[in-house]
Amino acid sequence: MPKLGLILADQLTPSLASLRALNPQQDILLLAEVAEETTYVAHHVQKIALLFSAMRHFAEELRRAGWTVIYRPLDAPDNDHSLLNVVQRTVTAQGCSELVLTQCGEYRLQHAMNNEWSAQLGVPLQVFEDDRFICLTADFSRWANGRKQLRMEYFYRDMRRKTGLLMDGDQPVGGQWNFDADNRAAYKGEVPVPDALNFSRDAIDNDVLELVSNRFAQPHNQHPGQLHPFRWATTREQALTALEHFIQHRLPHFGRYQDAMVSREALGERADTLFHSLLSPYINCGLLTPLEVCKAAEAAYFHGQVPLAAAEGFIRQIIGWREYVRGIYWAYMPQYASRNSQHNDRALPHYYWSGNTQMHCMSECFRTTFDNAYAHHIQRLMVTGNFALLAGIRPQEICDWYLAVYADAYDWVELPNTLGMMMHADGGLLGSKPYCASGSYIARQSDYCGHCRYNVKTSDQPDSCPFNSLYWHFLIRHRDSFARNPRMAMMYRSYERMAETKQQAILARAEHCLINLEAL
Ligand code: FAD
Ligand code: SF4
Repeated sequence: MPKLGLILADQLTPSLASLRALNPQQDILLLAEVAEETTYVAHHVQKIALLFSAMRHFAEELRRAGWTVIYRPLDAPDNDHSLLNVVQRTVTAQGCSELVLTQCGEYRLQHAMNNEWSAQLGVPLQVFEDDRFICLTADFSRWANGRKQLRMEYFYRDMRRKTGLLMDGDQPVGGQWNFDADNRAAYKGEVPVPDALNFSRDAIDNDVLELVSNRFAQPHNQHPGQLHPFRWATTREQALTALEHFIQHRLPHFGRYQDAMVSREALGERADTLFHSLLSPYINCGLLTPLEVCKAAEAAYFHGQVPLAAAEGFIRQIIGWREYVRGIYWAYMPQYASRNSQHNDRALPHYYWSGNTQMHCMSECFRTTFDNAYAHHIQRLMVTGNFALLAGIRPQEICDWYLAVYADAYDWVELPNTLGMMMHADGGLLGSKPYCASGSYIARQSDYCGHCRYNVKTSDQPDSCPFNSLYWHFLIRHRDSFARNPRMAMMYRSYERMAETKQQAILARAEHCLINLEAL
């Protein structure tokens, strides 16, 4: 009897652990576009199109490699619209002896598989660890156990030692683990930003784009975002082209401008990408593996194509941050998802969905999000995220938003980034201090403020930048939690140095902003 290998939408990797364990001569693979998985969160339409098209291309690739593949398209008349039902029908119809899969990226689904699926299917379930990641979940838990504080930097050093990336024996190449201090520049047009990459579209892409346009991109469907221009790679070959393009044209300047933001008025569409890789959707769905991407960056440094700070900064994001947040997710779920250490209770303002706000920095970040299913890290963390943090938005609401709007969003990576890194709602488990900042940070790193109706230089006037007063309000309302944090003490000292009338005027302006949050 054949075994059934279930391949999920984020497992599009030929070397996947479960594929290695199955036999193409004998076993059967199943890929399914399931309505339940596309609608339980209102995903951005480009994300749905990217995943369906990449799945269909991957199924073709597997067939060419000799596998028997059953593919259930969303619009098939007999599509069951629930993953378990699709699997059940296939197991029964094909007389399969066992279900084989690789651990999935979401606690909800993995928990259901572990606890309910086998009994309902009537066949055993074999789940393989996802070894596309560099740190296995059990290894992370061992690393975390017994530590008073978890800090990414120490974890990252272990990952450098484990992979040997940018290592010279047991020492980091260049004598330093981290070159972040070189990576903080604003962009003032010093070097040209490369144009976005476009791929030609084949019949599979076109079918999927039509399907998504009809099923999800209609206004009544409430899936956010524009479907066109659709620029994502949908095959491994295209994703490799995207990697090569990044290494050649963007990586040399990646580190330096990693924290920079530019508005569309200044740079057109190129403002939306700057020198970022846009590789996260491919790494997360399996078209590229994290290790091959890091090796390409390392090789570019050894060949003298890019500075060490750029290669190191990029590799740190992947073997450091990416692996670290995943470790936290699996070690602390399911309780992690409901944490709200600051007891936030404010609803998410409507402009997170409509994009209509007078705050120019926010409207630019919403625009790129809806246009591209993408915003780069500093836009997510220090603009839309920072605002939600300062305004005290309910963590679960802002997490749902981040999960819906980005092409790279999966629970394991979105949740710790949003709830932990950005909202500090895990009480400091992931990071030692909240990434809170006033408008002056945004003014320093971007050109947004020059196009804004608010004044970034003041905090207590009717037209003052909302970030400024909300920043102080945030610090004062959470004084008990943060005043003793050595990395935040200076901020509290600055506040204490202000005249009391000034303090009161700032807090009054912040209260006004909070009461009128929807109108900002
Ligand atoms: P680059 O800037 O080119 O970075 C290179 C790579 O490093 C990325 O492709 C990504 O694989 C990895 N990386 C960088 N930072 C992180 C990080 N903090 N966590 C995980 N990987 C990282 N990333 C996701 O992949 N999915 C998400 O759902 C997601 N949600 C986020 C939510 C918030 C609130 C924040 C602050 C960050 C989130 N990130 C998420 C991390 C990061 O913003 C994106 O990985 C990055 O913007 C993707 O764009 P890029 O490929 O151009 O990245
Ligand atoms: Fe954003 Fe404030 Fe600058 Fe306006 S003034 S763009 S709201 S930081």
